[in-house]
Amino acid sequence: MTHSIEGGCRCGRIRYRVTAEKLPNAYACHCRDCQTWSGSAFSLQIIVPESGLQVTGEPALFELTSPDGSRTSRQRACPVCFTRVFNTNSARPGLAVVRAGTLDRSDELKIVAHIWTKRKLAGIDIPSGVPSWPEGAPLADFIAALSRG
Ligand SMILES: [Zn+2]
Ligand SMILES: [Zn+2]
Repeated sequence: MTHSIEGGCRCGRIRYRVTAEKLPNAYACHCRDCQTWSGSAFSLQIIVPESGLQVTGEPALFELTSPDGSRTSRQRACPVCFTRVFNTNSARPGLAVVRAGTLDRSDELKIVAHIWTKRKLAGIDIPSGVPSWPEGAPLADFIAALSRG
């Protein structure tokens, strides 16, 4: 049985569909930027091939270049309700990072990795056995963690 993997913004103007066999595993980032950007304790995301993400509703674009100019993040948000839906980054071409809480099936997500835990709030506990890193994770380890479970 296949379940569709779809999501969208709070008001419904932006909708998307992910082409994947199953709901991708999610990771939490506890860094300060993610706290600021989400207005919450951490951001929750899934990584999917950009080619497997179909978006309808013409998202607004916000581009943010790192201070050293080495990479540009392109954030897509709903132009009506301002929900941030996904982003791409020039440092990781071909991949889209979807704000996992925008998935219709967000209640089914499994959080299989935590990064930037040195910024983690005291009230949030990471279950034992779930990989976590005090800052960013080495890419190979991170991909391995996301594909497990
Ligand atoms: Zn909206
Ligand atoms: Zn972060």
